[in-house]
Amino acid sequence: MPPLIFRKGLDLKHEVVGVLAESYHSELVQHIKESDFRFQSGRLEVRLASEFGFCYGVDRAVDYAYQTRKRFPDRTVFLTGEIIHNPHVNDQLRAQGIRFLSDPGESIDALNSDDVVILPAFGVTIELLNTLQDRGCTMVDTTCGSVLNVWKNVKRYAEGGFTSIIHGKYRHEETRATASQALLAGRGHYLVVLNEDEAAFVCGYIRGQQPISSREFLSRFEHAVSEGFDPTRDLQRIGCANQTTMLSSESLKIGEMFRAAMRDRYGEEDLDARFRAFDTICSATQDRQDAVIALLAEHPPDLMIVLGGYNSSNTCNLAKICSGRVPTYHIASPDGLVSADVIRHKPAGEAREATTTGWLPAGRVSVGLTSGASTPDNLVGAAIRRLEELSAM
Ligand code: SF4
Repeated sequence: MPPLIFRKGLDLKHEVVGVLAESYHSELVQHIKESDFRFQSGRLEVRLASEFGFCYGVDRAVDYAYQTRKRFPDRTVFLTGEIIHNPHVNDQLRAQGIRFLSDPGESIDALNSDDVVILPAFGVTIELLNTLQDRGCTMVDTTCGSVLNVWKNVKRYAEGGFTSIIHGKYRHEETRATASQALLAGRGHYLVVLNEDEAAFVCGYIRGQQPISSREFLSRFEHAVSEGFDPTRDLQRIGCANQTTMLSSESLKIGEMFRAAMRDRYGEEDLDARFRAFDTICSATQDRQDAVIALLAEHPPDLMIVLGGYNSSNTCNLAKICSGRVPTYHIASPDGLVSADVIRHKPAGEAREATTTGWLPAGRVSVGLTSGASTPDNLVGAAIRRLEELSAM
């Protein structure tokens, strides 16, 4: 019998709606949303961005995970890895007995047709999907529609003989999944570029300005290209795409950099035949980035708190936007607000957590607050209560 794949939920939404609200909703946050996104308590003012927190894709993925547990109470339910990049949500799922294939001691080789596997919002590689199918597992696919849209574009690139240039992090699950789609039965190629610096390097190569060999090129992008990638051959026709959660301004700029490089190399008349681009930043990411930019412009706060997992790409990008304009603290959870003097946070662009003292100014203070697409409202509410407590000390 072919494996069963649920792609549209399991018809149990009404049965999990209560527990989801209990686990992730916040009355306080709801109240603040209804009060023009502003909260005042004593000397503290908190301004929330007009868009923050759970996006439609995460909402759906978490909903389906709870439905899965409900539908298969007697079967072992696995996630391929983190369902989203938020430790609180992942811990809640673990507490329900859902196991993570990425945990030590777990193995795909041990799965069989009795097992149920949930695929995360950012999707899985074709290779992993095939393995799960071969093992006969029942699957619940929560891949977000916006990720599927990226896949559609890179598949088109491959069909047309274009190499996909993916603006993203080559280790990120979504980018790995997208890259696998760009291969299209071995016919396509991909190159992942992380930022403008890497894009500028590749553009220089396209223009013939980099006096380097293919081998040197490949050593720089060792883990970020498809097998057998030949920069001389595979950069002649390119299509740009991106991980859905990148900084949209950077993605657009990178697209323009590649367009200019191809024009310089092959001429305007050949551009259509050699260059394609689609903006595949998802609307939820775009809305959250736009909202925080608006907050900083309309109600400039004394400092920003950005709440979300340190490995959450969209949260890191929100922190990056804010940090250029105002003191910004990216905290993984409300626990990061250690005291009125001490905060534990990840500085934008750095890999490690830092501890900073003297972060909360004396006197009246306005704090801007936003959270990543994988951060539930109850954590935002808890952070606001903690800010209230600390400012009252
Ligand atoms: S961040 Fe965007 S692509 Fe990712 S799950 Fe949310 S809506 Fe979907």
